Amino acid sequence: MYNSMTIKLMEPLHLDMGDIHYVDEIMGSYSPSSHLTEDLFNNKMAFYIALNFPSYSLKEKTENAENWTRRDWAYARMGDMFISRVPADLQQNAAVISTNADTYIADYNIYMGKLVNDNMETLFPEDLVLITHWGLRDELKSNYNAENGFEKQQMIYNVMLDIINQDIPQEVINSGDYIWNPVSNKVYDNGQEMSFTTEPFTRYEHLLHNFKALSAMDKYNPVYPTYIDRAYYESMEISKEDIEALFIEFITSPEIAEIAKLIKTRLGRDLQPYDIWYDGFKARTNINEEDLNKITRRKYPNPQAFENDIPRMLVDLGWSRAKAQEIANKISVDPARGAGHAWGSEMKGDNAHLRTRIPAEGMDYKGYNIATHELGHNVEQTLTLYDIDYYMLKGVPNTAFTEAIAFLFQANDLKLLGQSNNGNSEEAEALAALDNCWSAYEIMGVSLLDMYVWEWMYAHPDADPKELQEAVVNIAIEVWNEYYYPVFGIKDSPILAIYSHMITSPLYLANYPVGHLIEFQIEQYVKDRQFADEVTRMLLQGQIIPQEWMKGAVGREISGEPTLKAVDHALEIITE
Ligand SMILES: [Zn+2]
Repeated sequence: MYNSMTIKLMEPLHLDMGDIHYVDEIMGSYSPSSHLTEDLFNNKMAFYIALNFPSYSLKEKTENAENWTRRDWAYARMGDMFISRVPADLQQNAAVISTNADTYIADYNIYMGKLVNDNMETLFPEDLVLITHWGLRDELKSNYNAENGFEKQQMIYNVMLDIINQDIPQEVINSGDYIWNPVSNKVYDNGQEMSFTTEPFTRYEHLLHNFKALSAMDKYNPVYPTYIDRAYYESMEISKEDIEALFIEFITSPEIAEIAKLIKTRLGRDLQPYDIWYDGFKARTNINEEDLNKITRRKYPNPQAFENDIPRMLVDLGWSRAKAQEIANKISVDPARGAGHAWGSEMKGDNAHLRTRIPAEGMDYKGYNIATHELGHNVEQTLTLYDIDYYMLKGVPNTAFTEAIAFLFQANDLKLLGQSNNGNSEEAEALAALDNCWSAYEIMGVSLLDMYVWEWMYAHPDADPKELQEAVVNIAIEVWNEYYYPVFGIKDSPILAIYSHMITSPLYLANYPVGHLIEFQIEQYVKDRQFADEVTRMLLQGQIIPQEWMKGAVGREISGEPTLKAVDHALEIITE
């Protein structure tokens, strides 16, 4: 009920409904459910539930998994509902702190046209403004094989180092008023070198504020008494120890060094720390995007056309005509303002919403590609709401699974358009395996750093922003020297500390590599089987714990081995 209210209230913000008025923003920011938990404690319902449905820790759930019936799992999920009673002011404070950190990062832009080298030459387009770290990283990636690519990459790398070390001039953050040489770290005004103040550890102050706001809730969480516990054991439901072991095993595998050798050959130079973002394992496709645009624009002139085509797409993926129609009837396609998203229903009788942006001339291929991803979310949401045996088990274990399922659908986008990928698919698959493995290697290191930094903050709760900065850099270098130096041959880079997620989304990073592994395992499993049957079977396990879901889905726990095996095969195909 609250979910449908929120969906309705936010419609003017999310849908393409003309100008947004002040009252739309007021209505959209109202959260009908924000007092629900408090209300349920006040009228004692929460206590009845807590007393009748014991809560089980992740360890207990894991141990009981073999004996539990579906109903036991549903009871256990009831037991998860009221395991903490955090005062509203602490929640509100954490929300404010988190918004402040978001705003800090959202306004952290670098004016690339104002960067100069030692010869006072600019290398980037005058009007290029990039956000840390996504924009900087993507620009760095796009400069493999570009003119002056190496020098531009070095320059971006130095900008990143200045941000991490906080010796970046405050005057060049989000401002194009001055000229900046990020390598020598000198600032110029009208051609004259000028003095400047370095950023006063603001980046780490936000991280510290997040730590304080979240750890303030510890004493109200008897089952998961630290934020570290809550992030891994409660939210992801995979133990910190399992995550750490999984990542370390993966990033120390011999395949990583083999891929590094290959990259070095392809680049014709020694590896640099920023080559963790090497972007060259992309298949050449012989399908022209403009041709695809023509097809999607003709097929989907408006959201209704896409909605009408959903039953056909689901039949193509293997659902029966009747089932395809039944699922499609519960998905509404709406015109979105933004790039698109999928919003599930929480209540039988309601539809899931697929939001997609369709320009006046019709849906372009990029929009279509995203829409097939969102369709995957909607199918998951619909099946696990309407066909699940117990309401408490609707959904999937965590966000990594949600994304893995959506990507499975997205990977079929060309097939659903009636276009087979007529390139060399063996080569394309091999390149994809290398790309997937290299990006997992990168983000696993960043996730380990995130984990170790939070452990450090818990061990040093009174640290100031400067001490935290030193600690983050030291830990980043330790992780680098242990797992990256042996592969890159360069010591002491703190590059892993550049991720903005560390500042805005505490301990969220590990979800990405785990998601990659899950996705790959499911993809491999489904490849030679009937898509619709397998996906339905997996989804109807519902929200049990991740490792049990994976065992039920593909016969084994989350593992890097299938990815590494695919890399072994890929290295025989791609030799230079
Ligand atoms: Zn998604």
